[in-house]
Amino acid sequence: MPSYNRVALVTGANKGIGFAITRDLCRKFPGDVVLTARDEARGRAAVQQLQAEGLSPRFHQLDIDNPQSICALRDFLRKEYGGLDVLVNNAGIGTWPKNKPPGKRDFFKEPQPGRVVNVSSLISLEALKNCSPELRQKFRSETITEEELVGLMNKFVEDAKEGVHEKEGWPNSAYAVSKIGVTVLSRIYARKLNEERRGDKILLNACCPGWVRTDMAGPKATKSPEEGAETPVYLALLTPDAEGPHGQFVQDKKVEQW
Ligand code: NAP
Repeated sequence: MPSYNRVALVTGANKGIGFAITRDLCRKFPGDVVLTARDEARGRAAVQQLQAEGLSPRFHQLDIDNPQSICALRDFLRKEYGGLDVLVNNAGIGTWPKNKPPGKRDFFKEPQPGRVVNVSSLISLEALKNCSPELRQKFRSETITEEELVGLMNKFVEDAKEGVHEKEGWPNSAYAVSKIGVTVLSRIYARKLNEERRGDKILLNACCPGWVRTDMAGPKATKSPEEGAETPVYLALLTPDAEGPHGQFVQDKKVEQW
């Protein structure tokens, strides 16, 4: 088997928290770091900014909502690196196109102690408390499947369109519900890894970066982007012998009860 460089990749990395995560990984990760952005010009400008600081990220285009873009990235990673070592899903979680086998698991090298960090938000935990008891029980379930979760997310969209989402037990925020989706999907994927690839020691977690001064949160937020990057980078760089955290929701480097 050819020997490849290790590689870490960050989505939505041209600005904000994703950019700060990429900068910190360039300093600390023992391998290549790939900065991805949906817009090539914005992504390359971000790479140049880091190069001016003496860092050496690579660039690859990625729009997490575009299946062709996801496939092109997968092919690049397999060719150049044999797969991924560290993935920080900062922009959200892309959906692997169902008609494009062999699928998402092929992103990761086998066997490697890979790390996956899904940037969610504390708002998911707060919104969970504002769900009806029935929904809360579903979102906390240890057996919920990806298909059931997608069904629930689609139901929220339909309920919101009809203006009945609060009557149906949902919190009154699409962003908060989307972050419930990110946290619960992380728990589902971590469970799947336990079932299907336990020997590979991949650790996958969701986290909150805190309230961070970015274009999204505005200037009044309490943390700088560098401070917001701390927990995602901590999870991305868990040492090869680490047993956890895995399948958890992490804030300020501490596991929170879901
Ligand atoms: P931001 O400054 O608005 O940056 C968002 C990044 O995501 C941008 O690079 C954007 O690219 C990219 N993006 C959006 N849609 C994309 C797509 N389809 N494919 C690829 N990239 C895409 O936001 P941020 O505050 O850094 O947020 C980063 C993450 O932290 C988000 O998941 C957010 O929900 C989470 N978070 C933030 C806070 C906070 O206080 N800031 C708190 C909790 C959680 P463009 O430049 O092309 O738009």
